[in-house]
Amino acid sequence: MMPLWTHAELVAATGGQASGEFDANGVAFDSREIGKGDLFFALKGEATDGHLFVGKAFANGAAGAIVSEPVDFPHILVKDTFAALNDLARAARARMGGKVVGVTGSAGKTGTKEALFAALDRSSRGKAHRSVKSYNNHVGVPLSLARMPRDTVFGIFEMGMNHAGELRALTALVRPHAAIITTIAPAHIEFFKDESGIADAKAEIFEGLLADGTAIIPRDNAHYERLRNAATKYATHIVSFGFSPEADVRLLDHVAGANGETLITAQLPKGALCYGLSQSGEHWMSNSLAVLAAVEAVGGDLAAAGLALAELGGLAGRGARHVIPVQNGSALIIDESYNANPASMAATLAQLGKVDGRKIAVLGTMKELGDKSSEFHRALAEPLSAAKVDFTILVGEEMEILAERLKAGVEGLPEFAHCATAREALELLKSNLRESDTVLVKGSNSMGLSAIVSDLVGGK
Ligand code: ATP
Ligand code: MG
Repeated sequence: MMPLWTHAELVAATGGQASGEFDANGVAFDSREIGKGDLFFALKGEATDGHLFVGKAFANGAAGAIVSEPVDFPHILVKDTFAALNDLARAARARMGGKVVGVTGSAGKTGTKEALFAALDRSSRGKAHRSVKSYNNHVGVPLSLARMPRDTVFGIFEMGMNHAGELRALTALVRPHAAIITTIAPAHIEFFKDESGIADAKAEIFEGLLADGTAIIPRDNAHYERLRNAATKYATHIVSFGFSPEADVRLLDHVAGANGETLITAQLPKGALCYGLSQSGEHWMSNSLAVLAAVEAVGGDLAAAGLALAELGGLAGRGARHVIPVQNGSALIIDESYNANPASMAATLAQLGKVDGRKIAVLGTMKELGDKSSEFHRALAEPLSAAKVDFTILVGEEMEILAERLKAGVEGLPEFAHCATAREALELLKSNLRESDTVLVKGSNSMGLSAIVSDLVGGK
């Protein structure tokens, strides 16, 4: 079998000086991720220098390294290893004859990317490739491209940003045939004046669209017109998705299943499609519509996509559901511990609101909200009350302002407790948990709420 990269291809792509000869089966810049036969990129970061880990990488089985300082192992010497990674990414993209989709948005990038991957992988019988985890920045995107097998039929890449201009650079590397914006909402907003600024920065993804490309945009979003106007400049086709009757790909009907799944009927440009979705919540319904729009845009198989959405596994920290034994029955834990911002808090609290039985929300601080942080934390009272949450455990300093508001004991607001750490919250939750409860655990990753889930679920 052809390796991912032959030595000749690596030298040609990076223009470096070779010492020793090696092919590469995989690519990594973290020495801990190196497997046998992989290529190690020694990147220089702010905190550390990959050259310090070359030995570790080879101990883990690296076949060769890309370095900017000579080492005692097979390598290719370049001026700038980050530039070389970008060169390899461009070479990967250039040799790929399939279709590529880029995914961005304020929330739901990884979930949508994973769902679209599942759909297109099934559609192409295992010939789809995607970025791993949330590798969506100036290093993660080129790395994900460099890892793309040469015979890939569909490539799916998550792209994220904190600043204007970042997506422009990423989309120029990815050169997608179709680009999805999942939603525009306050997230990663420290460096933006307002939401329109975020919309404009997300719309940069369209600048890299190839000829005859498709922009896929959220019809129900407040910035829909703005996104559409931006897309018009670069996209040949614009497909909107959402719940409103004007959307090109729209929800016609949906029924909740007994185990957290949803049965959906959607109207697509070429006809209606009925499919199961293993996830619940309006945000997931919306993401699935974007997935179908993309499958159609790149010529994937809609029936295969429907099957894949029905079988989509729970994503750790992003809506995975766990049933755990409690007393004589069980409780349901919804693991949203990976990420939180006002939009995803509202979406998942609304989802919690739909369940029967007692509703508990363990909510950790939402990070990266800049000077609007207090305002956003305080405003969580609205979705908490709309969802008729019975009890909420707030975790983290920034939740103080919400705690103050709940303290007033206004009708319709939940009972609450305020903890400093995830550990305290866990103890409190354990002493309160009863059978038939549903518990939403949600906060920014750095709040460490995933420890609550793993303790309850027992390392599952
Ligand atoms: P990051 O910026 O950290 O990479 P992301 O955009 O990749 O985040 P996901 O990890 O896919 O986002 O999802 C994070 C959370 O956002 C989910 O657990 C869910 O609560 C919520 N979410 C998912 N899709 C949407 C959506 N379309 N609208 C609002 N919230 C959503
Ligand atoms: Mg992500």
